[in-house]
Amino acid sequence: MVPQDRHGRRWHHYRGRVPDDVPPTPPVPDSFDALDARARELDHAFRETDRASAFDLPDRTIYLDGNSLGALPRSVADRVDDVVRREWGQRLIRSWNEADWWDAPQRIGDRVGRLIGAAQGQVIVGDSTSVNLFKVLVAAARQRPDRRVVLTDPDSFPTDLYLLDEVAELLGLQVERVAPADAPRRLGELSGSVAVSAYSAVDYRTGQRWDLAAIAAATHAAGGLAVWDLCHGAGVLDLAVDTDGCDFAVGCGYKYLNGGPGAPAFAYVRLEHLESLANPLPGWQGHARPFAMSPQYTPARGIGRLRTGTQPIISLLALDAALDIYDGLLMAQVRARSLSLTGLAIDALDAVGLGGSVVTPREPERRGSQVSFRHDQALALVQALIARGVIGDFREPDIVRLGFAPLYLSHVEVVTAIRHLAQALAAGEPSRPEFARRATVT
Ligand SMILES: *Cc1c(COP(=O)(O)O)cnc(C)c1O
Repeated sequence: MVPQDRHGRRWHHYRGRVPDDVPPTPPVPDSFDALDARARELDHAFRETDRASAFDLPDRTIYLDGNSLGALPRSVADRVDDVVRREWGQRLIRSWNEADWWDAPQRIGDRVGRLIGAAQGQVIVGDSTSVNLFKVLVAAARQRPDRRVVLTDPDSFPTDLYLLDEVAELLGLQVERVAPADAPRRLGELSGSVAVSAYSAVDYRTGQRWDLAAIAAATHAAGGLAVWDLCHGAGVLDLAVDTDGCDFAVGCGYKYLNGGPGAPAFAYVRLEHLESLANPLPGWQGHARPFAMSPQYTPARGIGRLRTGTQPIISLLALDAALDIYDGLLMAQVRARSLSLTGLAIDALDAVGLGGSVVTPREPERRGSQVSFRHDQALALVQALIARGVIGDFREPDIVRLGFAPLYLSHVEVVTAIRHLAQALAAGEPSRPEFARRATVT
């Protein structure tokens, strides 16, 4: 088991793990002029996947935080206006039928399903990622009632850790925190006692992509079920939940899917588990006959049984409109563009001399859609960049995290952002007092 202290910080482990597997640095382009020229060539080569004009982005801003809150698609404001003024304002309660508000969670779920490699009828949109995680973790563990062990990554996003601990407490399970790279081996040792493995596609701090298919295969060989958190994968990775052995998954609507702040999340349940699926938060909207108002719960057939209560329809339909951007795009194309952008960012960081502190893997197949590097003035550096119009974020303890939402970022912007970084450092901007303050949200 991975060592951890009682404050839940496992940083020594994290520090030890990441730099070890960073391969040698590739040749560095000798100047920003060369990088600019290459960026222009790449933007030309990738012009078919440029969707920047479909977004309403502020001027003079390079937005490298689409992994945390996606930008505003132009289609969303008009759609929300129509939903509010006409569907709600004029049509009132009739819109549950007329505008098909009732089936929105499943209908939009299928649209998300296409982006993660799920056939129809297995994805539902609604609630938050945290709530969906609770639902699928309990549901998955209950499919394996004789087994007690659940595995997860000690460096998981905190909500994932808190929820799994609580689910374990409720169901009498035992959590083992095992790094993703060690999970297949450990799952082999635990064969016969594993109920569930719960892993994220991408480490939210380092941007490292994990081989979830391998973890799922090892989980199945050990007799357990695989739960995936796709928050930093949906909308940027070429995921294949159906063919890669995922049993249950959750993911965010407001990150790369651009559904807006607090957008509903999604949950995936593999077809073969749907019939026996028990929703641990059963509500009237997941009932087979919701308007029978029966005192007895009878779950709906299919993914609809994962519903609990009434959903925020305005937010659901904002997400629906945001997903229009993906129409006509294959995730393989989006993934190729993402890798090109992050690859160029790493090359530019090499040119600035920061390459050695990059904690995101250089091999494309091990990279999500972000580039993170360590810096001893990380928090102030992020503030200095924001003042220059380059918006990234800071993660404890010393990570500058740059997210690359491929649909609205260009290669030229990537190089411009790293040029700002070089200029801010050369001018000593991170040492200015105004950049030392820490806001509530970093
Ligand atoms: C963003 C994120 C969450 C967020 O959960 P919410 O319920 O939307 O607050 C959870 N898990 C991971 C891995 C994330 O990246």
